[in-house]
Amino acid sequence: MSPSSDILDRMTTTPLDDSIPRPRIPVLFAHEQVAEPQLASPSASKPRDVVLRWQQRGYPIDLLRPQPAEPEDLYRAHDRTYVDAVLECRELNGFGNRSASVAASLPWTSGSMLSAARHALAGGGVACAPCSGFHHAHWDAAAGFCTFNGLMVTVLALRAGDGARRIGILDCDQHYGDGTEDIIVRRRMHDGVRHVTAGRDYPRHAARFLASLPGIVRSFADCDLMLYQAGADPHVDDPLGGYLDDEQLARRDAIVFGEACAMGLPVAWNLAGGYQEPLSKVLDVHDRTMAACVAAYC
Ligand SMILES: [Zn+2]
Repeated sequence: MSPSSDILDRMTTTPLDDSIPRPRIPVLFAHEQVAEPQLASPSASKPRDVVLRWQQRGYPIDLLRPQPAEPEDLYRAHDRTYVDAVLECRELNGFGNRSASVAASLPWTSGSMLSAARHALAGGGVACAPCSGFHHAHWDAAAGFCTFNGLMVTVLALRAGDGARRIGILDCDQHYGDGTEDIIVRRRMHDGVRHVTAGRDYPRHAARFLASLPGIVRSFADCDLMLYQAGADPHVDDPLGGYLDDEQLARRDAIVFGEACAMGLPVAWNLAGGYQEPLSKVLDVHDRTMAACVAAYC
């Protein structure tokens, strides 16, 4: 039985026995990473909604407080002038405004990703950063609801101070992680990062994508850690998506967690995009990702 089919089986058939102590999923969440909702994208306020839902559903999660990213962390992945202007509300953020609420949240969203990655790297296994808004952020410009690239902030911080040599980014959002690619090129990071962005690298064909995915995950074997963007916008009903139905998205997540767990490859994962309305439909997708994570690791 493959790791992913075993997980799918457990997601649907295994009753929870509360008498057995089980590992729990660390979720790096602080209220400071939540901003006021912004038009056109729920991502600024989504971390709180997702965490609340996971608690209500009784998933075995432990909330841990992340550290905010320091300015020096942000300067590694972005032009210093751009970072300062965004944080001082002089430059447009990824939502196309100068919201002080968004600016205040930004060190915490990247910090959630970095803290989750550090947690997974230090202890092995998995950690979750319930945050979004990274992969379209370029070296010196925001785009597509993304302001700072928490993926590359994390990669560069781990290489600078945590002894990591090579970090993987498996970006399974619907869209091309063009900002990530821009920063990899600017920082000449090709040896230090393996970046797979499904929005560019794989056809939007469910069966072919899912058949390729175990091999894709195994191709990260030479990495110290994999960052996994479990985007909800590949959903077939997403207005900015999509080609995967509920079962196929669950299979995607089961494959990623199952293969990584079997390889002993630490994983830090985040939410990325999702634009269905009402928001509960997006939360349903994130629920199933957490369920796959629990099935693989708990
Ligand atoms: Zn997207």
